[in-house]
Amino acid sequence: MKILDGRTVAAERRVEWRERAEALGEKGIVPALRFVRFEGAQDGGYGRSILRAAGETGVDAQLVDVEPSTDAALRVIGDLADDDAIHGLGIITPVPAGVDVNELAAAIPPAKDIDGASSASAGRLFAGLPSFAPATAQAVITLCDAYDIELEGRHAVVVGRSRVVGKPLALLLLDRNATVTICHSRTADLAAETRAADLLVAATGQPGLIRASGVRPDAVVIDVGTTYVDGQVLGDVDADGLDEVAAAFAPAVGGVGPLTTTQLMANVVTAASRDL
Ligand code: NDP
Repeated sequence: MKILDGRTVAAERRVEWRERAEALGEKGIVPALRFVRFEGAQDGGYGRSILRAAGETGVDAQLVDVEPSTDAALRVIGDLADDDAIHGLGIITPVPAGVDVNELAAAIPPAKDIDGASSASAGRLFAGLPSFAPATAQAVITLCDAYDIELEGRHAVVVGRSRVVGKPLALLLLDRNATVTICHSRTADLAAETRAADLLVAATGQPGLIRASGVRPDAVVIDVGTTYVDGQVLGDVDADGLDEVAAAFAPAVGGVGPLTTTQLMANVVTAASRDL
């Protein structure tokens, strides 16, 4: 079973995107990203990962701390949305109780919505218009492409239907001419569905939900799930016996994760290169 190594792919992609950022720099454009972060909110190290990826890709990134109020954040986002020197805007989630993340996301113009957070971006993705999809969903496709995993005509099964991973990923896979099944917590016989998958992507946050017995021989399995238990990261896939069935596996750690932040930077550089 081949391990799909997201860290190596991310390192390669960061060099490529850095070159594009530098080319923009020669024209006087410095790709700039701002992420709104609420004071006191736990981000699980995500903010740090964003800054590291930005440093490696030549993107000027800052986390902008705001007090936990929708109005305060709206003022900050409004200013950044109007600032022509800022190309990408994101919000660190989850946001504190009482803050309306949808209202905040709606204030991000689609051209700067580099994590596909707003319903306008989601609608554009649905309609096949130029847009940024959520970075994690894009990262799954980037990982497949990096390993020349054929998507067209293949049966992809996505387990999880969230707004940030499952649903947009299903649309991106459809766009690549895969035949897509979406599973969720009410799916009647999950293993029967997953056993039909050429490409199986698990994004549920339920550790060990997918077992080798639910994997079709020679399938490609991508584990997006990351659940923190006692300082350890657990994926959705129980790797026990997996190497006897799967052709390839992207584990929860070192798989899609490093590519998510890389994808954010790619989107910022793209946003700085053109108007959507
Ligand atoms: P959500 O909690 O928003 O969604 C989870 C989805 O999984 C839901 O659609 C839910 O179904 C489904 N689900 C839950 N239990 C089961 C089950 N027993 N059988 C089948 N489906 C089930 O999570 P997210 O989409 O935000 O994240 C999913 C995982 O991916 C998490 O572990 C998260 O940490 C990780 N993640 C990783 C990222 C990365 O870059 N590596 C980035 C983003 C997320 P239903 O809709 O019916 O409730």
